Amino acid sequence: MSEFVISAPAQPSVAVAGSSARFPVRRVFCVGRNYAAHAREMGSDPSREPPFFFTKPADAVVPASGTVPYPPMTADLHHEVEMVVALGAGGAEVAPEQALGLVWGYGVGLDLTRRDLQAVAKDAGRPWDMAKGFDASAPCSALRPVADVGHPGQGRIWLEVNGQLKQEGDLNEMIWGVAEVISYLSRFVTLQAGDLIYSGTPSGVAALQPGDRLRGGVDGVGEFELVIGTR
Ligand code: MN
Repeated sequence: MSEFVISAPAQPSVAVAGSSARFPVRRVFCVGRNYAAHAREMGSDPSREPPFFFTKPADAVVPASGTVPYPPMTADLHHEVEMVVALGAGGAEVAPEQALGLVWGYGVGLDLTRRDLQAVAKDAGRPWDMAKGFDASAPCSALRPVADVGHPGQGRIWLEVNGQLKQEGDLNEMIWGVAEVISYLSRFVTLQAGDLIYSGTPSGVAALQPGDRLRGGVDGVGEFELVIGTR
């Protein structure tokens, strides 16, 4: 057994509903503009774009409960509620018909976004990393296994801020379904057990303020409730 020159980093992980066992996180992939209404609100034409992906560090995943910090270097932190797909097996060039066989389970998460930094990056043709991949930028609910929830292809996805409904859509409005997302992503990288995929957000994204109370969910998958911390 080899030794490390510093203490090995902790393994990021997500809770599993009804269990003390946890799901270890390897990588976090996110799908951009996967609901037509959200693509339109971001100024894109949803009919002509193949899916595109960005990533967050594995340790950006934090529980979607308690207090999630308001990050530094932004004055425009946006919420994006998303269904989270957790892979229990991997593969490359996975056919769409085989893709759901890689899924271990599902959860509900937030793709927190520094929208002001993202706008600057878009204008300058720069990477999105600092707009998307900051600390605690990927809150995630407890996961539920496929054995419990199946493969949800429809159902309400929603987010309330301070009791007011801000985002609402249906999983059946995804431009690229989960199987297609997994299949397409597996053409770019070899997917592995432990990878999470944030599958895109419905319309209604907006700015958060310190102290905001968020409740979100995907019907049949789960719900979460958290507070945004002080700046
Ligand atoms: Mn997103």
